[in-house]
Amino acid sequence: MKFDIMTLFPEMVENYFNFSILKRAIDADIIEISTVNPRDYTENKHKKVDDIPYGGGAGMVLMAQPYVDAYEDIIKSDSCVTVMLSPQGEPLTDKLVNEFAQYKQMILLCGHYEGFDERIREIIKPKEISIGDFVLTGGELPALCLIDAVSRKLEGTLGKIESADEDSFSNGLLEYPHYTRPREYRGLKVPDVLLNGNHKEINEFRLEQSIKRTKERRPELYEKYKKENGK
Ligand code: SAM
Repeated sequence: MKFDIMTLFPEMVENYFNFSILKRAIDADIIEISTVNPRDYTENKHKKVDDIPYGGGAGMVLMAQPYVDAYEDIIKSDSCVTVMLSPQGEPLTDKLVNEFAQYKQMILLCGHYEGFDERIREIIKPKEISIGDFVLTGGELPALCLIDAVSRKLEGTLGKIESADEDSFSNGLLEYPHYTRPREYRGLKVPDVLLNGNHKEINEFRLEQSIKRTKERRPELYEKYKKENGK
């Protein structure tokens, strides 16, 4: 899958892909990352990408022309989804991440300052995605969150040992608690059931813990799980 990140600050995002699982995914040709700077598409001699808002008010607004021209230059695949990172977008969920993972190309528009001239939305018609009800200085971190979450759904990104099958949200629940060596630390013991080698009992214990956790921490998820599983 090809990710094209449209950002005024390419260096902010490039280093993220030089490490660990995503670096391995790039080396294995599972994902490809490119950055595109709208500043390179400006038609004014000062390479200006933003201007003051019509009607007055604080901050600078990102101009339509460099973003629209950059977008039209990089859209290559019929199987392309274009995402605008925005606090006004649909909240990102595991379900959306799974849907995005079906595409061959994703173009990500990272905003800055006051955000985008509305005509960028009207012309490009991106899917607007938010990573939560708070406001960041730019769309770069949200873009990295999205690419990271989508990449780990692509076949081959995670080794078998890192499988996403049991991660939180995959079955509508939060994941169960994990333990590793030693068996006892500061008087806290690993639950006996995890040491007895009986996989049926271990699975039952983990499901029970998952349900307990979800009920305590995310009651709305728990209610949905109950409804969907006829409980
Ligand atoms: N004036 C905008 C508003 O109130 O909706 C906020 C602009 S914000 C300071 C600058 C950029 O950061 C946005 O254009 C967007 O790309 C990104 N951003 C900020 N918070 C975000 C969030 N919660 N989710 C996704 N992107 C976000």
